[in-house]
Amino acid sequence: MPSCIICHLNINENTDSFKSCKNLHLVHKTCLAEWLLHSQNCPLCSEPYPQSLIDQFKDYKDKKEEEKQAALNKKLQKESRKKMQQVADKILNLKLVESIEHLIKVEKFDEAIEKLLDIYNENSTDERDLNILYLLGKANYLKGRYDMAINFFFKLVKIRYNYPDGFLYLGKSYEKLGLKDKAQWAYDRISSPQD
Ligand SMILES: [Zn+2]
Ligand SMILES: [Zn+2]
Repeated sequence: MPSCIICHLNINENTDSFKSCKNLHLVHKTCLAEWLLHSQNCPLCSEPYPQSLIDQFKDYKDKKEEEKQAALNKKLQKESRKKMQQVADKILNLKLVESIEHLIKVEKFDEAIEKLLDIYNENSTDERDLNILYLLGKANYLKGRYDMAINFFFKLVKIRYNYPDGFLYLGKSYEKLGLKDKAQWAYDRISSPQD
């Protein structure tokens, strides 16, 4: 029994087959339909297929291309939704941080600290979480809890050495506790973060 030159399975010459090219290479109708999506030449001898044959599979090709386009559009939509979500999250975060900064400004330190602890992710070293650490330190400093402030500022500068405001408030907190040497150590690191 002859076989299809594309899938190499047996082929029945009377049904669903084509002697497709000049050299009469046999293919299944379904195999040819797939092959024509990629090439218009016979896969075995590279002879071009006649246009009349290609035209018979035009509908199939159009349908496949439509499907491909639809899948692509769906993917693009999904990506743009994701991007929009990221932007929305960022704005939400900024607003949240802004509202907490306001709480600190109007001296509602406990409320600010509570909100900060709610959104703080201690496993993250994102800009957002570093800023939260800074605000946690600052709120505690202004509240007069210098020991707590030192904890937060220390954690912050351990993650990001180049955070001058972190060292500044770390120094101020030490100073409030009368630890002048340690305060100086922190101040020294504001101006020369490469040390
Ligand atoms: Zn086949
Ligand atoms: Zn051929």
